[in-house]
Amino acid sequence: MMYYSTNHSSPDVTLRDAIVHGLAPDRGLYMPERIPSIPKAFFRHIGEMSLHEIAYVVANTLFGDDVDSEELRNIVADTLGFDIPLRKVDDNRYVLELFHGPTLAFKDVGARFMAHMLSHFHSKEKSTGDVNVLVATSGDTGSAVANGFLNVPGVRVFVLYPYGKVSPIQEAQFTTLGGNITAIEIDGTFDDCQSLVKSAFIDDELNKAMHLTSANSINVARFLPQMFYYYHAYARMVQEGVDPEQIVVAVPSGNFGNICSALIAKRMGLPIKRFIAANNRNDVFLRYLNTGEYNPGASIPTIANAMDVGEPSNFARILDLYGNDHAAIKADISGCSYTDDQIRSTMREVYDSTGYILDPHGATACRALGEQLLPGEKGIFLETAHPAKFKDTVEDAIGARVQIPSRLAAFMRGEKSTVRLSRQFPAFKKFLLSQIQ
Ligand SMILES: *Cc1c(COP(=O)(O)O)cnc(C)c1O
Repeated sequence: MMYYSTNHSSPDVTLRDAIVHGLAPDRGLYMPERIPSIPKAFFRHIGEMSLHEIAYVVANTLFGDDVDSEELRNIVADTLGFDIPLRKVDDNRYVLELFHGPTLAFKDVGARFMAHMLSHFHSKEKSTGDVNVLVATSGDTGSAVANGFLNVPGVRVFVLYPYGKVSPIQEAQFTTLGGNITAIEIDGTFDDCQSLVKSAFIDDELNKAMHLTSANSINVARFLPQMFYYYHAYARMVQEGVDPEQIVVAVPSGNFGNICSALIAKRMGLPIKRFIAANNRNDVFLRYLNTGEYNPGASIPTIANAMDVGEPSNFARILDLYGNDHAAIKADISGCSYTDDQIRSTMREVYDSTGYILDPHGATACRALGEQLLPGEKGIFLETAHPAKFKDTVEDAIGARVQIPSRLAAFMRGEKSTVRLSRQFPAFKKFLLSQIQ
């Protein structure tokens, strides 16, 4: 399968090139040249299939031309080495818990899958040295990418994060790993980290000296595997005996990579009725739905901070998938935007009435279902992070203690190792060049 750029002014590339380069030369995002369909028969038995069986069929449909099936099976098994349970929260709402992976965040799956794919294609060209993954993080992405890529051969990871602006738990998840993971603390903001990474990608000297790539959700190998969640969610609902034509999924959204994979899954044949993109106060997508105009701006800080995005990078993919048809987009997705107070009160109400502990991100999607489900519909919302990752915020909101899972506590006991740099590009470049092996 070939991949084209959403800007349509650079050549189509192979899967390998789309993964290794991340962004197209014309700054567009890669999309599969055709959306393959999954045979209808598959959906008749999906309720009896396991997560691994389902994910393998989906992975093979997308990547089967490019990666041999045995290897793909191993990649899927290693990527999904934990459970993704669906739980009933109240009469009409179910939650799919995506936070049982290594860093308790939904990004674990995409990161691990991408690491394997990068390693797979890279291992065929041994002479070229390591691939160096640069990732800027305000917290969650860095930990998922670092853990996903840990000990994957032929790949080194540099995580850039703003000094003093990442929570101790988040910091511990990418500064204590060692091995092929290097954490770099920048005297500056998250935007400074991001701009250092961007400067590195366009620096000729650096790109001649070392092989650089990114691991954010613009990468096809990171965002596409997220569609496993939606097939799995659908299967578990069918197993529960829910009417398969009345399923609505609400997705806490920031860069819109996760929901974009869901929309592609729907196009492949997954019979989810419709989606809700749940947002915090960063409401650029909701405004687009309401007006047809897209006006990205600076991000607004909120308590659901992994969704503080003012210019969602995957918006271009959604537009492309729907051929810029605003009405068609509105037919498949609705939106919503909540203030921090609304997010807190949702956490409290749901805890008080059901005992379920939401994290601030999942809370937006849970609330959206409460407001937007129509009679007869059943809703699933995604829980994208374990509530313990936002312990103080959650405890304040619900007035009860949140247990820290042992996996998270283990990171806190590790020894922190980090390099501290200024936000000036020359210093960062010099450091990277010193790391060539
Ligand atoms: C990244 C993230 C999101 C948003 O996902 P997108 O694919 O960027 O829309 C939501 N919740 C949490 C906890 C995240 O880390």
